[in-house]
Amino acid sequence: MKTAFIIAVGNELLSGQRVDTNSSWIQNQLLTLGIPVLGGCLVPDETNRIVAALEQACELADVVILTGGLGPTDDDLTRDALAEFLDKSLELRQDLLQEIDRYFSRRGMTMAPTNLVQAYLPTGTVPIDNTRGTAPGIHAEKDGKLFFCLPGVPAEMKTMVTDYICPILAADADRGVILIGKVRCFGLGESVIAEKLGDLMKRGRNPQINSTPHEGDIVLHIIAAAADRPTAENWVARDRDLICRLLGEAVYGFDEQTLPEAVGSELRRQGLKLALAESCTGGLLAKLITDVPGSSDYFLGGWVTYSNEAKVRDLGVSPQVLEQYGAVSEPVVRAMAETAAAKTGAEVTAAISGIAGPEGGTEEKPTGLVHIGLFFKGQTEAQAFRFSPTGRLSVRRRAAMTALNWIRLKLKI
Ligand code: ATP
Repeated sequence: MKTAFIIAVGNELLSGQRVDTNSSWIQNQLLTLGIPVLGGCLVPDETNRIVAALEQACELADVVILTGGLGPTDDDLTRDALAEFLDKSLELRQDLLQEIDRYFSRRGMTMAPTNLVQAYLPTGTVPIDNTRGTAPGIHAEKDGKLFFCLPGVPAEMKTMVTDYICPILAADADRGVILIGKVRCFGLGESVIAEKLGDLMKRGRNPQINSTPHEGDIVLHIIAAAADRPTAENWVARDRDLICRLLGEAVYGFDEQTLPEAVGSELRRQGLKLALAESCTGGLLAKLITDVPGSSDYFLGGWVTYSNEAKVRDLGVSPQVLEQYGAVSEPVVRAMAETAAAKTGAEVTAAISGIAGPEGGTEEKPTGLVHIGLFFKGQTEAQAFRFSPTGRLSVRRRAAMTALNWIRLKLKI
């Protein structure tokens, strides 16, 4: 089985100004081709450091993919570094020069003299067509290893990986297949999931099952390595069924389906309409719902009643109730949910009021306390949740996702 190493070049990646998203994207592409990534590194815009990274990568792996440093400016040094590593000189390629020139003239522009360097390639290497920009990628070979140098611009890099590199690597016959299936759950802690899944999550098992939690949302990755695709597909399907049986109603979807998508498609299927009354989430739940294309099929609208006045004026919450119980209370979210239903005619409404922090918590009502009211086909329920006060955004997101999950459970997904 071939192995890979990824190098990301750019000072901005080391200074933290830019997150290296290229490497993780490439890693995923390689994994689906059955090529594990053994390592990777971030390298500054310095020739000797890029050469050292190429040498290290060459020691470790069969395929090396490098991104960045192919631009036209002085700090773009990948071409020079690759030439030094290969012990070749750079030669001007007239065909590439014409291609870059055409790129500019198609856009009614004249090529700047600085772009000339992009037409230079180490001798004996192959240019990779750039359909989205000026810098061609470079395909080189040394000691039986493959080297692909690509532009840092994510869109240009992705096109080259998909159109050029993947077909070359996929043609390699002796490789196995790695397939990744995902099971998505909400409402169970990671340790509870690990306990319920038991040996399924044991290290070294194939398929390997990992979990990644994000604010209550847990994605289980089933990573199957097999000799051929049908076998890998069978293993993923078998483990997916097992996980569903063990985790029951905590599972809401598979692969790339998000919780808002799962809830949305079920509302549509059941012909139900949704409206929202939000306070501490400031419209976050409405945003999550409307991030899904086609959500106008089931989402009618909502209110962000952040102040007590707005709760009274727009959602008819009684000032006495607010006075007696406070804005973060069961009677208030019940009233908000019921008025939202009465005003819109929606069969499902959710109301959220809580203390997102960092200030505003008391002993009786600490930061992280959130009341959620749910109106579902004529019945109203309310529940209090205590989220860990790990930051304002986190409390708000957990509150919105928890309300969404409660709607999901009511819809029996
Ligand atoms: P250009 O031809 O635009 O100069 P380049 O090959 O020299 O491309 P860079 O100059 O290093 O690449 O980066 C171009 C753009 O792509 C910048 O906005 C940079 O932040 C972004 N970029 C570079 N490397 C990465 C990476 N590893 N992950 C995400 N974005 C990146």
